[in-house]
Amino acid sequence: MTTIEKTKVAPTGKTYHDDLAIVREELDKCMKCGNCMSVCPVYSAEKLETSVTRSKIAVAEAVLNGELELDDPQVYDMLFNCLVCKSCMTGCPTKVDFGRIIVALRAALVRKNGLPWLKKMIFSTMKHPKLFDAGLRIGAAMQSLAFKSDKSGKAISPRSPFALVGGGIGFDADRQMPSLNITPLRERVPEVVNADNAWLKVAFFTGDSLNYFYPDAGMDLIEVLTANNIEIHIPKAQNCCGVPVLVHGDIETVRTLARNNIDTFDKTGCEYLITGCGSCGGAWQHDYTDILAADPVYAPRAEYWAKRTYDISTFLTRVITLRQPKGRVERVVTYHDSCHLKKSMKVFVEPREILKSIPGITFKEMSAPDACCGSGGSYVLSHYETSSIIGRKKIDDINRTKADTVSVGCPACMMQLLDNVHRGGAEQDVVHYISLLAESYRKEKGVKDTA
Ligand code: SF4
Ligand code: SF4
Repeated sequence: MTTIEKTKVAPTGKTYHDDLAIVREELDKCMKCGNCMSVCPVYSAEKLETSVTRSKIAVAEAVLNGELELDDPQVYDMLFNCLVCKSCMTGCPTKVDFGRIIVALRAALVRKNGLPWLKKMIFSTMKHPKLFDAGLRIGAAMQSLAFKSDKSGKAISPRSPFALVGGGIGFDADRQMPSLNITPLRERVPEVVNADNAWLKVAFFTGDSLNYFYPDAGMDLIEVLTANNIEIHIPKAQNCCGVPVLVHGDIETVRTLARNNIDTFDKTGCEYLITGCGSCGGAWQHDYTDILAADPVYAPRAEYWAKRTYDISTFLTRVITLRQPKGRVERVVTYHDSCHLKKSMKVFVEPREILKSIPGITFKEMSAPDACCGSGGSYVLSHYETSSIIGRKKIDDINRTKADTVSVGCPACMMQLLDNVHRGGAEQDVVHYISLLAESYRKEKGVKDTA
């Protein structure tokens, strides 16, 4: 029997999201060998036994055995001192699925105590896409009160009174982050983007980060697909993939988001779903099938889409034959493997293939390109100090390559790296790898690039 068959739906009809006991079989696999110490970014930053995977597994065992309470403050701190990066799953000799364990633990905590009010308010709003969208647009319109643009216009930083208050969570005056866009990606394009001589249609799940923070990268992805004669369906009714909510254990909200997304994409009639973010792609490939496994209506639909979800790089290089780029992009480029793109979607060869096929690019590999950047969604806010130590290691590795451009496949990593390259002093460009391909296509046509 495979791990998936064992853990998806228990005889009780529940998944591990609803019953912590279902992950006991994963806990039992852990030999406490400590191999995860060498790959866990939190342990490498803090050097505390409580930070490492096996300690969290020991805590889960103690909770299940009735020896510890989930809401014990020390237990709580351990459970949330984790980036959910899944690095510990790569070298584990017994293949412990820690991704499931940590989600099951946090979900059990939410069942016991509910969500803190702030998370509850934000996650509830996410279930209402129009309300969520309106909130972010108001935020975009008001952000200049608290943030100012940097000289390049590519990033914003907190203004001084806010920087004083926010310093503890990294919102000091030096912080750089992308601005919230007044016109999000899905407002810039029609729901169906036609292409010349289209021979295939695909659906594009933008995710919230590309939609609100990096719409230019989303436009580059669309431009690349149309240059390859692909028609693109971009439903406006899509909502967040749910991963930021899942990792906080709010299972009811993730199920609502997943069902809404499935309903929305079913209507496109497409057979391929394209993502430009490892977390979004991982949700469609793995999380939706797990979280809806006991739902007789949605489980088959989730399975349908899981088999048809591709990161844009995989789609371009494995499903179709990419139109070879000819325009020269004179850059020295390195590539950061985002945790969810490499460890969930198993995508790491394809973006490099694309980058190396672009004329003019000199590709430089880091010594540890798949080391976590320390983002972890809200971890960068809740554990800013540890996140910064992890981020600095990544920047040292980037600086050693002498690259002038850091390419990435996940918007959350782009945010973390934008801030960290700025603090690191070298100020490399941080871009989605698809933007470099789009740049090459534009150069081929003689279009001057402003990126
Ligand atoms: S590497 Fe795997 S088996 Fe070893 S301690 Fe870590 S989680 Fe347990
Ligand atoms: S998921 Fe990442 S941060 Fe969490 S225990 Fe595993 S390696 Fe460490």
